[in-house]
This record gives sequence, structure tokens and C-alpha cells, in this order.
Amino acid sequence: MAPTLSLPGFVNVHSHAFQRALRGRAAGHDFWAWRDGMLAEAERHSPETVHALYADVYGEMLAAGFTAVGEFHYLGAAEARAAAAAAGEVGIAFVCLHVAYGRGGLDRMRQPSVAAYLTEVEALASEGIAVGLAPHSVRACPRDWLEEIGSYAAREGLPLHVHACEQPREIEECLAEHGCRPIELLARTGCLGDRTIVVHATHADGGELDLLASHGSAICVCPTTEADLGDGFLPVMRVLHRGIPLCIGSDSNVRIDPFEELRELEGIARRQSGQRGVLSTDDLYAIGGELGARALGLEAGAVAAIEIDLGHRSLSGIATDHVRAALIAGCAADVVSR
Ligand SMILES: [Zn+2]
Repeated sequence: MAPTLSLPGFVNVHSHAFQRALRGRAAGHDFWAWRDGMLAEAERHSPETVHALYADVYGEMLAAGFTAVGEFHYLGAAEARAAAAAAGEVGIAFVCLHVAYGRGGLDRMRQPSVAAYLTEVEALASEGIAVGLAPHSVRACPRDWLEEIGSYAAREGLPLHVHACEQPREIEECLAEHGCRPIELLARTGCLGDRTIVVHATHADGGELDLLASHGSAICVCPTTEADLGDGFLPVMRVLHRGIPLCIGSDSNVRIDPFEELRELEGIARRQSGQRGVLSTDDLYAIGGELGARALGLEAGAVAAIEIDLGHRSLSGIATDHVRAALIAGCAADVVSR
């Protein structure tokens, strides 16, 4: 049997498992055209189809070295239970980031009121499902919903995950409706805190990044999806300069590979700075692992370890001291042997 190296498992902080069905589909010319295709895919699901597809996707995550996942879920409460059951069968640690959707999207995504939304979250939690709060975005949640969810998260000590500043149009619409940018609105509505994870922040400006830093909030970066959707690049250097914590997610699951997410993150930083080794190998593993666990409110012990196949051909000739760095620099997730 080939020797292996044991490493902490990776944490996938942001997943929409059903979107893996869109892998390889052209689905239009920009993010908004892709979104139309995504909504059509979302429309067709039932608890049964979620159970089957998610078990398959979570199996792919586990094989790739993600041993915990935060499912940013907006297909309905019955489907949330099906997703949790699929994760349990596959053996991946699971947190349901149950989504609040007040307007737009599909009927199945929306709750009639923020009180109804919080009742759904409490029902899931009472069944033993680990939960976090997830106002979908400033697009999908009116201001009073954000205020209510922000205060509930603070009171209950729950993680609060929210998409923000992924696309320029979302920022323009927020400015038109509220007279401020998305992360400014999150601050004004009490949604920023040290358990808040802003997903993407691709087009956040300096003032918004200052707000994240001053509130102790983190950013979940999803580089393979952000590339696939034409979102843009996280301003990594400006994020690091402010000491904002990072974590990673496979988001649309167009690709499921923690090494590639981390390689892309460091690659963006190198392209922006003209420097190498902007994030150290230890920094990158922390972003892939312990900071992700914190973002999901998981104890470190809840994230199972993984084994790396040291006999894999992509590690051939690599000195033992360089293996951890080589995994991020040049390997795909098929080096994971469990
Ligand atoms: Zn997302």
C-alpha cells in the first residue's frame, strides 16, 4: 500500500449543490442569463431529486477532500431536510444555511414573511440539523427582513451568511433603492458581526472592506465559480491589508477541488501584486480548513481528516518537505485517497 499523508479536511463554506447539474452548460452570455438557466434547474427539484443529486455531489466533495459543507439552501424546507439526510448518508459534516428570500426568484424560494422564515429555521434546528441564517442578498431581502435577521443572529449566536457585491448591477440597484452599497446596507441593518460571512465581495469598495474589517466579518471566496460566471476577481491584496479573514466555497460546483480554489486565490493575489507567496502555505490551509469551520460554527473536531496518496504521479519526485505546498501549487483533488 502506498504511503499517505494525513491532513485536516477542507471545509466547503458555500455550496449550491443543485447547480452542479449546470456544469458544462453554456447557459447564456452573462451572469444574469446564467441565472435564468439556474432558476429553471431549481424549479424542477423535489425532496426526492434533491436527496439523490445531493448525495452524489456530496460524495464528489468528500472524494475531493471537503469533509464539511455549508449548503446555502433556497429550494424549500422539505428539500433542506432531504439535503441533510443525503449528507448524513454520505458522511460529510453539514450545516444548512437556510436562505431567507423575500422577493424575486421563484415561488418555492420565498417565505411569506421574515417570521415564517425564522420559524422554518427553528424547525430545522429542533430536528438536530445544524443551521445558519442566510439572507440571500440585498436583492432578495428587503431592509426590514435584514434588520430582523441581523438581530436574531446576534441574539442566538448563529452564523449569518449573505451574498454581496458579486456583480456590478446588484450594487447599482442597491444604490438606487437604498442610497448605499450592499455591504453598507448590511452594516446599517445590523447584519455585520464576527459570525457574518459575506460571500464573494468581488466588487466591494474600500469603504465596504473597512466595514467588514471593523465588524470582524469574513469573506467566502469562490474563485472557480467567480471565474465561470464572469464575476471578476476578489481584491485580495486590499482584503489582506485589512486583515479580513477568508474561507473558500465551491459555490455552483462547476468544479469541486479545494486545491484549485486555494491555488486560484493565491494566483489572483500574485496577479494583482506582482509578488509570489502572498499567502503562505499555512495561511492557505487555514483558509481552506479552520477558518471555514469557524465560518460554519463547527468545532474543529467536527471536520474529519483526509489522506493524501503520496504515491500519486503528480507528487512523484516531490521532496517530503514540499508536499503540502506542492498540493496547492500543482495538484488536483484526485491526490486525495479517501
Ligand atoms: Zn452562492
